[in-house]
Amino acid sequence: MTGSVKRALYDAARALVANPMDPEARAELNYLVNWKTCNVCNENKYIDEFGLEPHKTDGRRSDCKSCRNESQARRRAERKER
Ligand SMILES: [Zn+2]
Repeated sequence: MTGSVKRALYDAARALVANPMDPEARAELNYLVNWKTCNVCNENKYIDEFGLEPHKTDGRRSDCKSCRNESQARRRAERKER
């Protein structure tokens, strides 16, 4: 997680603690906790960028969709060469 995301998450958590019934604070925190760091490119991406993997704790893959597409394309190319 980059510093700015962490900071935003901290601020959003504080806002929600200060005003637990505020739907905007709640939505903001909800949005921020749905960020995930890709294990391959190390970029912070929204949870939608990670494919579903139901048996994982958070239900998502650890590599983002673009990294996954890249590795699949690479594998396909390798198969073609042989
Ligand atoms: Zn990635």
